[in-house]
Amino acid sequence: MGILEVKGVGKRFGGLQALGDVNLSVQENTVHAIIGPNGAGKSTLLNCLVGKLIPDTGSVMFDGQSVLGRSPHEINQMGISRVFQTPEIFADLSVMENMMIPCFAKRDGAFRMHAMINMASERDLIEKAEKMLSEVGMLEKTNMLASAMSRGDKRRLEIAMCLVQEPKLLLLDEPTAGMARADTNNTIALLKQIKEERDITIAIIEHDMHVVFSLADRITVLAQGTPLVEDTPDNIKGNPKVKEAYLGE
Ligand code: ADP
Ligand code: MG
Repeated sequence: MGILEVKGVGKRFGGLQALGDVNLSVQENTVHAIIGPNGAGKSTLLNCLVGKLIPDTGSVMFDGQSVLGRSPHEINQMGISRVFQTPEIFADLSVMENMMIPCFAKRDGAFRMHAMINMASERDLIEKAEKMLSEVGMLEKTNMLASAMSRGDKRRLEIAMCLVQEPKLLLLDEPTAGMARADTNNTIALLKQIKEERDITIAIIEHDMHVVFSLADRITVLAQGTPLVEDTPDNIKGNPKVKEAYLGE
C-alpha cells in the first residue's frame, strides 16, 4: 500500500475525457515521476490530488484517508504540499515575508489570527523559516524582494515555502519549465538533497527527461489520460510504447 493510492480516477471537461481510468500507487519515501506528452492529463491529475478539481470517478487515498470532498486547505493540512507550474510567490514581499505565509497557513483558525497579529512575538516561526532558508541555501537572501530574484531562486523559495510546512508528500508540476540549464541543474541538486535528508515522498510531473532520470525511483507514463506503463527509469528508457507516445506529440 502506497502513501498515495489513486484508483480509477476519471475527469471530463465537457466533451473531453482528460483522465480516463487512472491508477497510481506512490510508495513512501520515493520519488515518483509522472511523464507524458502535452495534454496527457498530468496537471489535471495533480489538481485532483490537491482538491483543486474533483474527479468524476474513482478514489484518491493519502496516508490511509480519502482526500475527495476535502478543500485544498484541508488536504494541505493532511500533509500534501504542491509546487505550481509557474512560481506562486508574492513578488512584492521579501523572501522572509513569503516564508511566513505557509507558516501561518499551517495553523488553525483563531490561533492563526493571533499569530499574524503578533508577528514580532513569533520568534519560533522566524527561526524555523531561517533554518529552512539555510537548508536550501538562501539564508543570505532573507531580506531580498522576491521579484528581484532569478527564476531558479524563485523556484528554490517556493520549494522552501512548501517544505517549511513539513509535508509528507511534495507535489511538483514541471518545476524546471522555462529554466536555463544551470537553474535546472541547481533544482535537480536541491531535490536530490531534499530526498536524501528528509523523510519525504516526492511526486514530480516533468517534461525534461534529464530531470526525470536524475531523480525518479519509479516513472508512470501518462498518455491521453491513461497510464501507459509504470516502471523503473532504466526500463522506461528502452520501452517502445513510451517512445511511440512521445513521437505522437
Ligand atoms: P498536461 O498537464 O499533461 O499537459 P492537462 O492536464 O493540462 O495536460 O490537460 C489535459 C487535457 O485537458 C488537455 O486537452 C487540456 O486542454 C484539457 N483541460 C485541462 N484543464 C481544463 C479545463 N479547466 N477546462 C477544459 N479543458 C481542460
Ligand atoms: Mg501540465
